[in-house]
Amino acid sequence: VRTAESPGWRSRNRNHKGPWGPVNGIVIHHTAGRDSLRLCIEGTADLPGPLCHTHLSKAGVATLVGYGRANHAGTFAANAHNAVVAEAAIHPRPDAAEPIDGNRHYYGIEIENLGNGTDPYPEAQYDQAVRWAAAICRLHGWTAHSVIGHKEGTRRKIDPTFDMAVFRARVAERLKHPADWSPGSAATPTKPATEPPKEEGDMPSAKDIAAAVWEHPIENQFRKDSAGKPRRIAAQDFMEYGDKHHDDIVARLDRLTAAIERLTAALIKE
Ligand SMILES: [Zn+2]
Repeated sequence: VRTAESPGWRSRNRNHKGPWGPVNGIVIHHTAGRDSLRLCIEGTADLPGPLCHTHLSKAGVATLVGYGRANHAGTFAANAHNAVVAEAAIHPRPDAAEPIDGNRHYYGIEIENLGNGTDPYPEAQYDQAVRWAAAICRLHGWTAHSVIGHKEGTRRKIDPTFDMAVFRARVAERLKHPADWSPGSAATPTKPATEPPKEEGDMPSAKDIAAAVWEHPIENQFRKDSAGKPRRIAAQDFMEYGDKHHDDIVARLDRLTAAIERLTAALIKE
C-alpha cells in the first residue's frame, strides 16, 4: 500500500467518547467530494474527526488519518454485523433496526470519489483500496468476507458506488498470494520487444545494467513487515515515492510559512 502519514495519526481517535474494539471487520466508504483529507482529519461541528482510519486520494495515496475509535460507521444493523463476524458468504440486506455501534467494531477507509455513480475509481486508486483491505485481513487472519461496504451495514447509506462482491473477490485473490504480489506483474514486459536476443557470454549492455539497477529491490529499514523484516521495494518505486513525499512536504511548508506571515502581520498590528 502506498501510504502517507498525517501527523499525529497514531493517537487521533474518539476513544474518549466510547469503546474501541474488539474489531470485527472493515468498512469501505466513498467521500462524496474532492480534497477531502482535511475533512476526514478534522470532521465538522456536528461530526468531529477523525472520520476514518485511512483516506485514499484519487491518485491512490493512502493517508493514515487515525487509529482507534473513528466517526465513520455510525450504527449498524445486527444482521449485517453478525454476517461479518461469521464471515458468511452472503451479506444480507441490513435490517431497519440498528443496535450495533459500528465505530467500535470496524476499521474504515474513505475513498475519494464524488459518489454520483459516474465519477470513476481509477484502477490505481481501486487497487490501493483492495491492498489496504487485504493487508488488514492478513494481519487479523480474516477472510475477504470481513470487508463490507457502508451500504451493506446500514440502509441509511449508499456508499461505496461499486459492487462489493467484486471488491471482496479482489481482496480474496490478494489473500491467496504473498503481500508483495502484484497482479500480472510477471507478464508485463520490462524491456522493448525489439531488443535483439543476446548470445551466451555476451556482456550486458549499459541499458540492461541501468534497467536492472532501477528494478533491483532494496530493503527499507524504516518500513518493516508483520514479521519485522524490512520491506523490499524497487529502487525506482522508492525514488518516485520519495519524490511525491517531497512535494507534499514542500506544499505543507508553504502553507505553514503563509500562516506564520499572517500571524506576524497580526501581531505587528497589535
Ligand atoms: Zn460511508
